[in-house]
Amino acid sequence: MEYGLILDGQTKAAAGGEVQEIRNPYSGEVFASVSLGSTADAELAVQAAKQAFADGRWSRITPAERSMLLWRLADRLEAEADRLAKIDAANVGKAIKLTRNSDLPFAVDNLRFFSAAARQLEGRAAAEYDGLHTSWIRREPLGVVASISPWNYPLMMAVWKVAPALAAGNTVVLKPAPLTPVSSLELGRLALEVGFPPGVFNVITGGNDVGAYLVAHPDVAMVSLTGSRETGAKVMASAGVKRVHLELGGKAPLLAFADADLDEVAQAAVVATVVNAGQDCTAATRVYAEAGIFSELVDRLRAKMKTVRAGNPLDMKTDMGPLVSAVQKDRVYGFVQRALGAGAEALEGGLPPSGAKDLFFPPTLLVNASQKSEIVQTEVFGPVLVCLPFRSEEEAVALANDVDYGLAASVFTRDHARALRVSAALRFGDVWINDHLPLASEMPHSGFGRSGVGHDLSAYAIDDYTKVKHVMSSTKSEVVKPWHFTILGDQPQA
Ligand code: NAD
Repeated sequence: MEYGLILDGQTKAAAGGEVQEIRNPYSGEVFASVSLGSTADAELAVQAAKQAFADGRWSRITPAERSMLLWRLADRLEAEADRLAKIDAANVGKAIKLTRNSDLPFAVDNLRFFSAAARQLEGRAAAEYDGLHTSWIRREPLGVVASISPWNYPLMMAVWKVAPALAAGNTVVLKPAPLTPVSSLELGRLALEVGFPPGVFNVITGGNDVGAYLVAHPDVAMVSLTGSRETGAKVMASAGVKRVHLELGGKAPLLAFADADLDEVAQAAVVATVVNAGQDCTAATRVYAEAGIFSELVDRLRAKMKTVRAGNPLDMKTDMGPLVSAVQKDRVYGFVQRALGAGAEALEGGLPPSGAKDLFFPPTLLVNASQKSEIVQTEVFGPVLVCLPFRSEEEAVALANDVDYGLAASVFTRDHARALRVSAALRFGDVWINDHLPLASEMPHSGFGRSGVGHDLSAYAIDDYTKVKHVMSSTKSEVVKPWHFTILGDQPQA
């Protein structure tokens, strides 16, 4: 398969003529070749998006027309879900069960949600607030949005970013992660096929320098990044005066109280550890267990981890594929080695299989790590779970909140009042009770603290991609308005 960039309504080779081979991390085989973009292509994309915004071909058509095109794009994704699910499975090395039954249907649902939401933007009621004018709100698009996405859920992350931006009437330049550009180029091509006007949705490939170019570009009105905390900080520093929207990393705690069903906890914790081989920003990475159930829970976690079937991502029986790259495998292994060096103990996993080409990392369970250690405090992005004990509800909440992230958390208990207290006290953007991972198009996904700024999903995302404008119309037709004397002339006598 060969892919060009999606620029101004056409599929084009990159200006520099470079081509990048895309490999399946499981087999090592090249399965696609992609035109490799540069800052020159980023410039063309920004200018195409700028022109498309300025002439109103997208921002000034009716919400119903934008909505219809987004809905048609959802239909095309749904019709081609098998093929697209295979592409992301082959590109990331993730289990096809996950891409076909979760990423693809959710991306379709997200597009449909934003298609409908495009027709119902919200503002305050119009009124005569000062007694002399009628004031109302217009909710306007911002202009050119640069959407920069990560490699872990390539198609779904692209949809989360571009669907609300487009629904609101912005034009978009999408830059997928360098490792996983294929499904984003497919998305751009399908958008053209269903009738998106040229320049409205551009997709360019390229490295971090291309992302940085977009971030600093004066014609880009908003930057929306899903990526690491480190990249988020760089984007914040170089964006200048433009809106910045960041969905960054996580270090999700899972709190298990003694009254919880331990089988339910072990099942949820392992599912939420090995999801996408742990390369998930909401993955459960820290299990805090009440002291009385700690050993029993550890036993059940170990037993559950042994059932995980690692294998070919394209096999429907595979639970977990390899990590996305050798760099990622070295990174995960480095975290685990440093944790062991600092006194932690691996009860399951911990060592990658030998063989230079083998990118698998086994489900790993660590105990005896200290709360302040790197393995407890920093996102690993691999199937590594640390289990720690707590003695009281207050301590559980304090330990859960004691990280520099705030994306997702969960609490397992049969005590309803405790579930309410703990869910309120957890400083995370997504909090689950007796489950971990599911999201809904209608509900926001966002980080507290250094996990991000702004929201993905939901009507809150549409708000993030719009600007409210106050329009004020005089209700008086006199030349001299009652308030003019404060600037010109004398105060009228009563
Ligand atoms: P990354 O930060 O390395 O890269 C993300 C994107 O940013 C890529 O397209 C990359 O090319 C681009 N980029 C890198 N440096 C840049 C710069 N200086 N300026 C502009 N763009 C730049 O992240 P990754 O490794 O691709 O993805 C993994 C990270 O993403 C993890 O930290 C994960 O938690 C996070 N993530 C968060 C969410 C969420 O919803 N909060 C979802 C998925 C992934």
